[in-house]
Amino acid sequence: MSFVFRDLKVKSLISSQMSKKVLFLDRDGVINHDPGDYTKSLEEFNILNGAIESMKTWVMEGFEIIIITNQGGLDKGLYPKENVEAMHQYLQGECILAGFSILDFYYCPHHPDYSGKCLCRKPESLMIEKAIHKYNVDITKSIMFGDKSRDIEAAEKAGVKGVKIDINSGVPEFHHKF
Ligand SMILES: [Mg+2]
Repeated sequence: MSFVFRDLKVKSLISSQMSKKVLFLDRDGVINHDPGDYTKSLEEFNILNGAIESMKTWVMEGFEIIIITNQGGLDKGLYPKENVEAMHQYLQGECILAGFSILDFYYCPHHPDYSGKCLCRKPESLMIEKAIHKYNVDITKSIMFGDKSRDIEAAEKAGVKGVKIDINSGVPEFHHKF
């Protein structure tokens, strides 16, 4: 076997080992209680029962977790981005206490009434595509849960299986059948 060929084999082995399977999650109504309106502050950010434990079942199976959330309330001026970041820091802290961490958080700050149409707001798939590129995500082994059709549409545009769950029903555990 030539050196070059062996080198290529090693590289492809390394890159296949590096590719990640990811559980993509919508945020509001999936991880935290969605009152049917915007979640504007940390005070309003209530993690659903069992959500952290369910996420952990996926991590135990080798999945990374990435949050993909529309936050059009930012464009509307309903809350500042510091509030969104505070919620994400709090959620990350709760996950760390449970023994794992969320790989990344993506949020779209646009609302069509204010910024016009953007490429990131779900049902568009730019947030998911950026994550796929950044983290070398294996889309064939990844999955997305969301409580709205636009979550599923965004996932499927990026080639990821999307599964719609009932609002505020919590994150399904890994061993749940889809
Ligand atoms: Mg939602």
